[in-house]
Amino acid sequence: MTQVSPLILQARAAGERAYCPYSDFHVGAAVETDIGIFEGCNVENASYSLTICAERVALFHAIAHGAKQFLRLAVSCVSALETDPPESRTPCGACRQVIAELLPPNALVEIDGVGVWRVEELLPLAFRIPREPTPNSETES
Ligand SMILES: [Zn+2]
Repeated sequence: MTQVSPLILQARAAGERAYCPYSDFHVGAAVETDIGIFEGCNVENASYSLTICAERVALFHAIAHGAKQFLRLAVSCVSALETDPPESRTPCGACRQVIAELLPPNALVEIDGVGVWRVEELLPLAFRIPREPTPNSETES
């Protein structure tokens, strides 16, 4: 039996709380930040395009609580079968773009039962606007 990281255990727990009445495919994520660990789970909607993945829920959850630095992310497809291909458990393209914006290129993304990748490996040539994001601050008048 292979050792499971504490962050993966938190992702699994979050996945158990997923709202996924349409797919019954539970996914959880946990992100370690400068102010602690934040969890997310997938949240589906009858209007399918409004569904949001566990990875983005975890990252947005952390931002809402004031996180500024994102250190490591874990993802667990709780409902995945051992026979499911690894690609069915990795973050989708939209999540990879959000991950690439918030985590440093060399930060690790651990995918339960699949492996560990650096952000820059999950999304090479991630889209970026040609200037630094403006930090949230009051503007001088
Ligand atoms: Zn996604």
